[in-house]
Amino acid sequence: MSREKMVTCPVCGEKFELESYADIGEIITCTNCFEELRIVRLNPIELEEVTDYYDDNDDSEDYLEDEEKEEW
Ligand SMILES: [Zn+2]
Repeated sequence: MSREKMVTCPVCGEKFELESYADIGEIITCTNCFEELRIVRLNPIELEEVTDYYDDNDDSEDYLEDEEKEEW
């Protein structure tokens, strides 16, 4: 049994098929603009653009730089 769900990408506005295994909190990629989207609601399906990741990386890099200075 395969039940495809059509969703609308909040970034480009194009519709694409949601994978059947998709669940709340999952990160999916738009098949049209390849933007990463998080599923925040299933009925009706609601997608949210994922933007937090880059900020996390910046913070950890700054922390490592501080540690190096302390060793000297
Ligand atoms: Zn898109």
